[in-house]
Amino acid sequence: MFDCIVVGSGHAGSCAALSAVEAGCRRVLIVEKAPREWAGGNGFFTAGAHRTVHGGLHDFLPIVRNAPPEVVSTIDMEPYTAEQFTADIMRLGDNRADPAIVRAVVDGSRDAVGWLADQVGVPFTFSFNRQAYLVDGRQKFWGGLVLSVDDGGRGLIAAHQRALEQAGVETWFETPAVELLTEDGAVSGVVVLRSGESVRLRSRAVVLACGGFEASAELRAEHLGPEWLKAKVRGTPYNTGDGLSLARGAGAALAGDFAHCHATCWDAHAPDAHGDRVLLNQLTKSGYPLGVLANAHGVRFADEGADFRNYTYARLGRAVLRQPGAFAFQLFDPRAARWLRAEEYADAVVAATRAESLSALADKLVAHGLADRDALLATLHGYNGAVRAARAEHPERAWDPAVKDGLSTESARAGCDPPKSNWALPLEEPPFVAVKVACGITFTFGGLAIDPRTAGVLAERTATPIRGLFCTGELVGGLFFGNYPGGSGLTAGAVFGRMAGREAAKLAA
Ligand SMILES: Cc1cc2nc3c(=O)[nH]c(=O)nc-3n(C[C@H](O)[C@H](O)[C@H](O)COP(=O)(O)OP(=O)(O)OC[C@H]3O[C@@H](n4cnc5c(N)ncnc54)[C@H](O)[C@@H]3O)c2cc1C
Repeated sequence: MFDCIVVGSGHAGSCAALSAVEAGCRRVLIVEKAPREWAGGNGFFTAGAHRTVHGGLHDFLPIVRNAPPEVVSTIDMEPYTAEQFTADIMRLGDNRADPAIVRAVVDGSRDAVGWLADQVGVPFTFSFNRQAYLVDGRQKFWGGLVLSVDDGGRGLIAAHQRALEQAGVETWFETPAVELLTEDGAVSGVVVLRSGESVRLRSRAVVLACGGFEASAELRAEHLGPEWLKAKVRGTPYNTGDGLSLARGAGAALAGDFAHCHATCWDAHAPDAHGDRVLLNQLTKSGYPLGVLANAHGVRFADEGADFRNYTYARLGRAVLRQPGAFAFQLFDPRAARWLRAEEYADAVVAATRAESLSALADKLVAHGLADRDALLATLHGYNGAVRAARAEHPERAWDPAVKDGLSTESARAGCDPPKSNWALPLEEPPFVAVKVACGITFTFGGLAIDPRTAGVLAERTATPIRGLFCTGELVGGLFFGNYPGGSGLTAGAVFGRMAGREAAKLAA
């Protein structure tokens, strides 16, 4: 008899297992469908970005590892309040998110991050590279997100694995959970496949932390629409919706947005069905707010500067997927390109196309799928004209990537459809650069209904918790709808993982 079995070895599952031990569980087991080399699920592929409520720079100095005094004196960082975090999730979710679930994540966020640093040993860093721009000698943070992890998801999962080993938690790899055991309406264990054999494991509590359904082409087509067959999976190929079917078998209720998911601009040359365990998140191409996006017909289709990147990137993959051929080009000139992050755009990482004129660039892009080079040129000339007209009307506005600078394409004399609302620079200096991007699916939003006070999974029939069954991570429904504020997934997984572990220990006691 186990005290707690966690299904899934990702960040959320690891948090649940560690929390269960901390709260007093003695026999805790993680069962993981993937082989050992895929340990850590999507958590391994992340940038390690954690969004949390905080009181500004000094709040984090005790836990970050890359802020010596001479660096601290150059940082501009505003506090991020519970009201702001709540408003970001609600605004991006069109006010459809479950307020109680949101409150649990927001209120538990800072504590969870402190616990990850102190108890798990996660090596947090300030995210200078991704979330700040060096402007006039100052590191200016933007977009409410400041924390990352040394060596990203690799560093995060390595910290979890060290902590799990110290806590005596074993992980059985290549051991998928295939059914939940139930007794008198309560969950009493899990059936797993081990070396092809069906094994019944009894446990006082089961925590489902086995991800969404992003890696199942069939479920993507069913819930998100047939075009999602063309999406590229950014992370683990093992998140195929098993948690949903396991929990449904025990009478669980579903919750949340099954029609949308988190999907980004992703390298068009990336593998289709899984992430790359060497390049990891470097296949993301998140520099679009600095440039222009155009499709195979040479047409712009999104406001690249609608908001800070971490408020737009999770919905942009969907927009790219809907373009002819399901790809797009990101276009830059050197004034923008010098702000692109080397980890995503260096020559060793991406196959960029360069040319000395826009016309030559359009010619070269035909070999990469551009169907109408004249339309692309017309689009870019129209865009450039609109930017210059807006500049002439508002000469007082200065380009600044660390604030919403209002440098747009819109003026009394000209405009673009769609507009570019911020950071609009004309593409006028060679060499011009183009990067081909596709849609990369990250995780799905629809999941299980939970009690936000315990992470207990709710029964469909009674809307009350199913005794012995908990859930965390991507599998939790009701939190994200349509869009997502960057860095919230890891935090939510830690908040509900800790909660689930504590509740499991109560049952074990
Ligand atoms: C490329 C990329 C970058 C990201 N960057 C960030 C970021 O910087 N910040 C952020 O907040 N979020 C980020 N995310 C999202 C983040 O990964 C998720 O929110 C988080 O990892 C979810 O944790 P999880 O434990 O629920 O899922 P996972 O980490 O995916 O773990 C689920 C595990 O369950 C296993 N499993 C599945 N089915 C079964 C079964 N039947 N039995 C046993 N095991 C099973 C899987 O093999 C997997 O190991 C990123 C995701 C990707 C793909």
